[in-house]
Amino acid sequence: MAGLYLMDEVQYDAAIEALRRTEYPSIQDSTYLDHAGTTLPSRSLMETFGRELTQTLYGNPHSASSPSQLSSCRIEDVRLALLSFLGADPRHFDLVFVANATAGIKLVTDGLRSMPHGYGFIHHEACHTSVIGAREEAAWTQCLSEAEVDSWTSTKGFTQSSAPRTSATLFAYSAQSHFDGRRYPLSWSDAMRKASVDTLYTLLDASSFCSSSSLDLSNSQLAPDFVVLSLYKILGFPDLGILLVRKPAENVFAHRKYFGGGTVDMVLCGKQQWHAPKTQALHERLEDGTLPFHNIIAAGIALEMHKTMFGTMGLISRHTSHLANHLRQGLAQLKHANGLPIAVQYGSDDGDDALGRGPIVTFNVRDSSRAWVSLSEFEKLANVRKIHVRTGGMCSPGGVASALGLEPWEMRRNFSAGFRCGAEDDIVAGKPTGAIRASFGAMSTLSDVTRFLDFLSEFFVEQNVALSTEEDVAVDDPVSKHALRVKAVTVFPIKSCGGYTIPPGVEWEVKPEGLAWDREWCLVHQGSGQALSQKRYPVMALLRPTIDFATGVLRISYCGTNSLTEATVSIPLEEDPRLFEASISDSTARVCGEPVSMMRYACGNINDFFSEVIGVPCVLARFPAGGRGMASRNSKAKLQTHQRKRAPRLPGAFPGVPSPPDSDSELYQPGRILLSNESPILMIYSSSVAELNRCIADTGADAVPESTFRANIVLESTESGTAPAAYAEDSWENIQIGSQRYRLLGACRRCQMVCVDQETGKKGQEPLSTLAKTRRYDGKVYFGAHMRHEPWTGAGGSRNSRPWIKVGDLVSIDSLAS
Ligand SMILES: *Cc1c(COP(=O)(O)O)cnc(C)c1O
Repeated sequence: MAGLYLMDEVQYDAAIEALRRTEYPSIQDSTYLDHAGTTLPSRSLMETFGRELTQTLYGNPHSASSPSQLSSCRIEDVRLALLSFLGADPRHFDLVFVANATAGIKLVTDGLRSMPHGYGFIHHEACHTSVIGAREEAAWTQCLSEAEVDSWTSTKGFTQSSAPRTSATLFAYSAQSHFDGRRYPLSWSDAMRKASVDTLYTLLDASSFCSSSSLDLSNSQLAPDFVVLSLYKILGFPDLGILLVRKPAENVFAHRKYFGGGTVDMVLCGKQQWHAPKTQALHERLEDGTLPFHNIIAAGIALEMHKTMFGTMGLISRHTSHLANHLRQGLAQLKHANGLPIAVQYGSDDGDDALGRGPIVTFNVRDSSRAWVSLSEFEKLANVRKIHVRTGGMCSPGGVASALGLEPWEMRRNFSAGFRCGAEDDIVAGKPTGAIRASFGAMSTLSDVTRFLDFLSEFFVEQNVALSTEEDVAVDDPVSKHALRVKAVTVFPIKSCGGYTIPPGVEWEVKPEGLAWDREWCLVHQGSGQALSQKRYPVMALLRPTIDFATGVLRISYCGTNSLTEATVSIPLEEDPRLFEASISDSTARVCGEPVSMMRYACGNINDFFSEVIGVPCVLARFPAGGRGMASRNSKAKLQTHQRKRAPRLPGAFPGVPSPPDSDSELYQPGRILLSNESPILMIYSSSVAELNRCIADTGADAVPESTFRANIVLESTESGTAPAAYAEDSWENIQIGSQRYRLLGACRRCQMVCVDQETGKKGQEPLSTLAKTRRYDGKVYFGAHMRHEPWTGAGGSRNSRPWIKVGDLVSIDSLAS
């Protein structure tokens, strides 16, 4: 189709549309937008390849038979064709066939690490995971931002003075980010090489760039030393990678140790151990074992067909950029009824204009209240409409972190909380953990863009925005509505032990079963399996937790005066099965008389620490995450539903009101309350504490601190507005904190545990004696309220986000049951 070269963009698009009908039946009724993942093989390619293999006899190339010789010839032809495709002169470059781009990178690191003093590794931050992995073999490593690369290349003669001496340094970067399509200059290669005092080699990851643009290595002086890419991303088939090596860099492989069939001229084994590596071309020394010769033959055919169908890479580049720009603009124009855009796009245009941008559009979707739409939800809907995009972290740790503003500690926190690449719950603490990527290839057309935009508009543009659910509106409301705010947020990771106060500014996740990490663990008596409580062992208050996401541990420090073998112990946040006793079924603990399945830690140092502090042989246990058996953590939510219906009001009786056993109540109704945080969240109101303290002061006793009530959330009045009176919380039914709604379940019943001074671990009289005088109904004493998070229902809410809470969040009270 020589005519392709003469067409304008509109005609070209129409030509591709026509081509698609016959050549790409697999995308006939779907919208395929993951060409950065892999592009598609055409029907002609597969038919030609099939004919070729069934009609011509090709043998294993390592032999002298004529079918073998035929294979060898074809391999060398394809090698040459690929070199010329990349504008690389065979006098200056060698091309090594590898399984994929990753294998090419591994081969380079294999050579470098065998050098006498190993290597140092520098990479640009937008690299693919497969490139970053090269740091693990390096003697030292550094990750540079774009500005840092620029400053290194302009300071001639940089050297790693503090780093250990190595034989060489490798600098690696992507020609184009596979995350957001940003491009990085080819000139970096030579500039870095020139600027370094030490021997520096450069590796260009061209996997993403080459799929829709032409790489030009015609100037071998300025070219990178190593180039890797995967052919399936350019041609759709075969699954084959190539490593291009600039000849001056060949000596990197001089020390490579392994050899395989095909890479040696002679091997002695037995009495003498000796081998002679092949000496001619570099690829002969690196291509261990039988070459994927069928694949290589396919690559030759694919290269030709690609050219016939689409013309040059230049035409593909023009076409795909056009599509990507169209999508970027269309996306920017999609807005909710309240004017907020539905998408946040990543990879801004502040890059070098001359380099252009790859045909990759990366973004996240937000609802009309600015809450992020979860990726798994997005993907499910897209699947329904047969729209295929990539979602998640995309093997781009640097790209994701900078686009989403994720700090290392947040990523560690997410990991500790069980978040993994590809997990369902992908909005953590109000932030997305990945993004949506739509990418174009040669066979994409404008119809793909239109269909994708129509889909976004249909499912994600909210036409009827319920203004009351909107954060902004809430903030603009008359101040009187927000006479309250969150004063403190605390979690108690180990039941009955000290609390961890969430630092200001940190958004803490709220789960159906309560605040994240709240009462995740408990201590059980080694013999009876009974859960230990402060009521019996007040010293437990002196076990103070810190949740350290940076190192992925829960650290417990003992703050008392007894001298101990160890003052702290660290418990991995991750649920590593190796830490636990083997059999779950044996590990039944009793919480307030109810059997509860737990995983008991098998680590001596952890159990010894707690046994020594508390002075009783005990074992740390964890509630299994997914829930095992009736009495696991996840069965709580169900129970809550029926309890909710009977939520009692003060004053009066409190039938079946649950109270966290670790804080308070002594009496339990067997069979009704299975677990500690049966009532997920305990809230108190500081004005009520003040009122109680006023009564305590009247008796001549000392005031009690708020911490004595072991609440998860303390509310306080703001300076502005009319604050509710003390004990107003008794009559609240629903409240909204930040953009999240909570249902109040009733008042919290108190026992003598409320008398344990959380600072000193000593028991006193107050506040129970004053509470008994002022807050007793039906012989029971109440203070504070239980509540649970209410997920948004219906369209337009923050339904897709993981909810969170933070200090300072404004609170509004809605006493009407919803
Ligand atoms: C796809 C890709 C890789 C990995 O390629 P494999 O074929 O999986 O080895 C590496 N870097 C970039 C930029 C990519 O797009």
